[in-house]
Amino acid sequence: MRLEDIPRIPLGFLPTPIDAMPRLSRELGVTLSVKRDDFTGFGGGGNKVRKLEFLMADAIAKNVKVLITTGGHQSNHARMCAAAARKFGMHPVLVLRGNRPSEFQGNLLLDRLFGAELEFLDPDAYFTEIAPRMQAHADAAEARGEAAYIIPVGGATPLGSLGYVQAVKELSEQYAETGRKAPDFIVAPVGSGGTIAGLTIGVSLFWPETKVVGIAVTGSAVPFTQRIAVMANAGAKLIDVTREWQSDDIWIETDFVGPAYGVPSEAGNAAIHAAAEKEGLLLDPVYTGKAVGGLMSIIASGKIPAGSDVLFVHCGGSPALYPFTQQLVGN
Ligand SMILES: *Cc1c(COP(=O)(O)O)cnc(C)c1O
Repeated sequence: MRLEDIPRIPLGFLPTPIDAMPRLSRELGVTLSVKRDDFTGFGGGGNKVRKLEFLMADAIAKNVKVLITTGGHQSNHARMCAAAARKFGMHPVLVLRGNRPSEFQGNLLLDRLFGAELEFLDPDAYFTEIAPRMQAHADAAEARGEAAYIIPVGGATPLGSLGYVQAVKELSEQYAETGRKAPDFIVAPVGSGGTIAGLTIGVSLFWPETKVVGIAVTGSAVPFTQRIAVMANAGAKLIDVTREWQSDDIWIETDFVGPAYGVPSEAGNAAIHAAAEKEGLLLDPVYTGKAVGGLMSIIASGKIPAGSDVLFVHCGGSPALYPFTQQLVGN
């Protein structure tokens, strides 16, 4: 099937705008623009909305009643899944990594507002228990006669990644309309890797000269380059694109995770302050702050040369600012 023929249910307010960053550009010595996918809008917005346009179309076709997914406490993905489930009359179940919090702030607050059923898994047990726990929720639903649908962490499936193939198509049309040539680099954070997998396929179709750079904000047991190549290959097959990627074709920076996933880093926090104070742009401490911090560093080191045209994909996440007052501004 072609991309246009794969069922997709509109969720986002698309196309999202492209924003110039003149002050940050001057400081960094590149032309920096931002694709504002924090403004996809639905359910508080962010990159998962694009993946969910494909995943929810699949769930709706299967007459799903219970939508199950997972993530960390401040998972934007889990929050957007809860919202999407509600929009289509489904019951959201979120199995989150972390102990039950004493306070529900940021995305956890929004999860509660969407009325999601929440289960918390001890971080040490998470990786062994998450698959059976999600399956147990699915089995319980099926036993009641309700179809269940499990979305893996980050919506990182070949089908979900098509959201970012579609995003590059949208971008290429936006650039063409204003007569602007394709950027030299397109840069995005890497959590589950679905976004970069989709960008990789999309760029090969619509912007063949552009390089895709992912900045990891979490560790990975299997190297990201391998996981993303596998996902891109499977996503490409869905839309009859014959191109295949190897690990070596994927560019992922892994030095900017900081202390751990979900734990703010100094460089990430500095980037949050710089973007806010120079451009009035909100980043977040879990994903986009660390990614922009990493981007600044690879520009400074010359890996992305001075004078390049760089497009950063802002994947959202600002609800995760609010639980981090102390780390960001002290008292
Ligand atoms: C999920 C997420 C990412 C990472 O996207 P993946 O497709 O999981 O790699 C980046 N930024 C924000 C704000 C996110 O919520």
